[in-house]
Amino acid sequence: SPAGLVSHYHVQTDYLDEQGLAQLIQRCSAITTEFENVPAPALRTLGAHRTVAPGADAVAIAQDRTREKAHFVGCGVPCAPYAVLETAAQLAAVSDDLLPGIVKTARLGYDGKGQVRVNTRVELAAAWTELKNVTCVLEKMLPLRAECSVIVARGQDGVCVNFPLQLNLHREGILAVTEVYENNVPAPVAFKAIAAAKAIADELKYVGVLCVEFFVLADDSLVVNEMAPRPHNSGHYTLDACDLSQFDLQVRALAGLPLTQPRQHSPAIMLNLLGDLWVDGVTPPWDQVLALPGAQLHLYGKLKASKGRKMGHLNITGATVDQVRATALAAAKLLGIAPF
Ligand code: ADP
Ligand code: MG
Repeated sequence: SPAGLVSHYHVQTDYLDEQGLAQLIQRCSAITTEFENVPAPALRTLGAHRTVAPGADAVAIAQDRTREKAHFVGCGVPCAPYAVLETAAQLAAVSDDLLPGIVKTARLGYDGKGQVRVNTRVELAAAWTELKNVTCVLEKMLPLRAECSVIVARGQDGVCVNFPLQLNLHREGILAVTEVYENNVPAPVAFKAIAAAKAIADELKYVGVLCVEFFVLADDSLVVNEMAPRPHNSGHYTLDACDLSQFDLQVRALAGLPLTQPRQHSPAIMLNLLGDLWVDGVTPPWDQVLALPGAQLHLYGKLKASKGRKMGHLNITGATVDQVRATALAAAKLLGIAPF
């Protein structure tokens, strides 16, 4: 447990274990989660005694794609056309217009897990069977020009601040690269995404750090994809490129301290370090990577590197966008990460 390694005290038990929850209540004045699949009833129990942020109701919505999409629609923010799959009748009634599409389990998916891409109705039926007929959404496959995300932090007093728009490159459904600097996407797109993320947080009366992921389509229109009720991988650059990081803001929100608008002081690129880089268990050449000015390495202390597992990230900052891009590409080359 990476967090366990740096904690003063580590409770290791089931999320719903009453004694474990009682220990948290006894030991903590405020409680948060860095994982959206903590059962909402556990957060509700804690919330009766302590400050819990984000709260059970917001997490319950974010951990269920059907409720999440309904929330986006309610906020007037468009998402990809979709249908809910709960019954055979709903499967039969799916419009052909949603194909080709992606079937996603309503719960517990991450890093592209719990998703199957389908082209035909036959493939759709087979995919739903493969996913054990749990509640799913079928989403129309959209041609993406780009993907981006916005991280907001909303305080107990309702003040909502935001980080700049993050441009994200995914490979095989997993975040690979985040680039954050002026005009990483056209300014009107960034403006719209930030406004949408704030509306989504306000409508939930959210407290804490929230990440909203978007798709940018060919005509620069914006479609919301999903939200994560926690600090997010696409916000890890804030540790080195901003005066306040997403983790600072999470702590402030929890503690009821003022939230001020964070300022990014350097253009930044983050490279995700997946287990794939430990070829045959060999540690990547950190000495060569750290010889690059502006490169900062964050490893999570996970003991085993496996394919697709997030082991750490590399933040690169610099004086100019050109410099940061050149350094990031050099680091990627040293690490065997494909250029971007
Ligand atoms: P996860 O919970 O695994 O992050 P996402 O719904 O964000 O699941 O999907 C992972 C990735 O798959 C997205 O970042 C995007 O690259 C791709 N993807 C998901 N939905 C669509 C879609 N409707 N159209 C095109 N690409 C999609
Ligand atoms: Mg995602």
